[in-house]
Amino acid sequence: MAPDVGSPVRAGDAEAGFEVLPDFERFSQVDDVFCRSWWDESIRSEQTKRFYATYRRPLTRWRKANGFTQRDYALRNASWHVSDVFTELYEDQGRRDGFLDPLSMLRDGPGTRLEPESPEESARQVRQVARVFGADLVGITEFDERWVYTERFSSITGTAKANDLPDGLTSVIVIGQSMDPDLIQTAPSALSGTATGLGYSQDAAVLLGVAQYLKNLGYEAVPSMNDTALAIPLAIKAGLGEYGRHGLLITPEFGPRLRLGKIFTDLPLAHDRPQRFGVTEFCQQCDRCTTACPASAIPAAGPVPVALNRSGLKGVNKWSVDGEACFGYWSKINSDCAICVRVCPWTRDYSRRRNRWWRRLAGSPLRRLALAIDDRIGGGRRLKPTSWWANLR
Ligand code: SF4
Ligand code: SF4
Repeated sequence: MAPDVGSPVRAGDAEAGFEVLPDFERFSQVDDVFCRSWWDESIRSEQTKRFYATYRRPLTRWRKANGFTQRDYALRNASWHVSDVFTELYEDQGRRDGFLDPLSMLRDGPGTRLEPESPEESARQVRQVARVFGADLVGITEFDERWVYTERFSSITGTAKANDLPDGLTSVIVIGQSMDPDLIQTAPSALSGTATGLGYSQDAAVLLGVAQYLKNLGYEAVPSMNDTALAIPLAIKAGLGEYGRHGLLITPEFGPRLRLGKIFTDLPLAHDRPQRFGVTEFCQQCDRCTTACPASAIPAAGPVPVALNRSGLKGVNKWSVDGEACFGYWSKINSDCAICVRVCPWTRDYSRRRNRWWRRLAGSPLRRLALAIDDRIGGGRRLKPTSWWANLR
């Protein structure tokens, strides 16, 4: 299905904090910076090939540097293993499940549909099911084709292919998986990449479980990780959090320390409302991620109505991150980087009363004080990877 887009502005955009402009264009996955590193010679290099090889080939590269040793890469790659099994299953057929294509390991459902009691009750049950499978956060929003990729990328041909979805999809269930706080604190390191890999591996299990449940009820279910659609606008609309200067979702429960997955379905479901808790106003006072980013990928100016390069979304006035510069740094260090997640003051352990108190302050007109307190206590400082291994936190 290739849905048409009329006016790019929709009811509910203002409530979600979206500023969609008349020149809005839906995004093609071909322009995603990771996909470009397969076909675009301005991104593709020996360095990017080495970067991928450290994930996908038997380990041959590591360093003596703290956080980049054989032990660190061994753990990072093990954390990716479950996700990799799904991704590589049909690679010879041109699919990369969870990254270029939706997860497809699902059985057919019955020919008959369970009649829902009400959209509200179905939504409640879906939330319960998602949590029992291990989801940390669950939100539900309408199917909005603006955030669906115009086309997918084929790793076999290096070109576009159709982004086929079933007809009649009405809702998107957005799932959030928190990432391990101590591992994130070791960024940048191969060790911190373990938090990312674990996030994807857990996401694959949760998404497949929830999608199979929907299938068993007789409904369509398309479980999706990085493929098919942009996750962040769907998550904002589903009420999971707000958009931060570093281009990531910030949630009240985990800050930006989160991975997102989604399931497209036609089960009638009640939808959640966006929530605002002061992130936009806080980011206007803070530049921690901008100054900490080693690739200068997070502009100090902000929000801008233009994409910084072809890997950016066109026609939305928002904080934009330079994906080319960011991925260039990842390639240089042979691992993903989460410095902007580590240093963000919203990344804290909200099971602690003092951090819940800080969150209230940060969301109030006293946000400058909240930032000063975080500066004073050295928020966002790095944990040495050797200290993590020694369990010294
Ligand atoms: S992941 Fe690292 S390189 Fe990329 S924007 Fe964040 S701090 Fe910068
Ligand atoms: S580090 Fe500061 S500016 Fe950057 S996203 Fe977090 S709160 Fe916003």
